[in-house]
Amino acid sequence: MSSDIKILVAEDDRAVSNLISTSLKAAGYRIITVYNGNEAVTGTASHSPDIILLDLGLPDIDGIEVIKKIRGWTETPIIVISARTDDPDKIEALDAGADDYLTKPFSVDELMARIRATLRRLVHLRNAAASDSVYENGPLRIDYSSGCVYLSGEEVHLTALEYKLLSLLARNTGKVLTHRYIIQNVWGSAWESDLGTLRVFMASLRKKLGENDGAPRFIATHIGIGYRMMRID
Ligand code: CA
Repeated sequence: MSSDIKILVAEDDRAVSNLISTSLKAAGYRIITVYNGNEAVTGTASHSPDIILLDLGLPDIDGIEVIKKIRGWTETPIIVISARTDDPDKIEALDAGADDYLTKPFSVDELMARIRATLRRLVHLRNAAASDSVYENGPLRIDYSSGCVYLSGEEVHLTALEYKLLSLLARNTGKVLTHRYIIQNVWGSAWESDLGTLRVFMASLRKKLGENDGAPRFIATHIGIGYRMMRID
């Protein structure tokens, strides 16, 4: 199954690139390695990979520019690889259209888990027509046509904004959404002053979904970055 999956690895650090390639090949994936941003763009165009692993610090063009160029013609999932201290870079990358991020140094297990999660998301995307009116994820069910939300069959009463917030997260299950993206899409406003509001609505939504701070089930918090709806198998 995974032998049909092509992954493009754009990383100029040869040691890291070799580690990633060796691990992914051992797991049965087909690998295309490139070492700079221009090759990442042309490699994506010529090989049509299923997933792109993109180091943000490349020697020629900036990783963010690479994402913007690639997003000009394809929605192929992009997982960025970034240094621990670079939260602004991660946020910029996600806002430019990246799907997820890995922080250096990362373990092979973590890399594999992200790839599997991205592939599950792709399968769901390919199976679910855009017109799908019902969303299901574990015990959570959203009926978009009636605007009703159910948890284990029990209706959950949400405010209009909580519903909008939940729908946005659900429609992007598996993808990290930045604070800015969420605020723009739910409130349609500039974001700085609204971060506190988002937190309040998120806390209220999580409570209604039966989550408590210590044990998120559906919604994962990415501190300083945003939130992600998790796929529950
Ligand atoms: Ca680098």
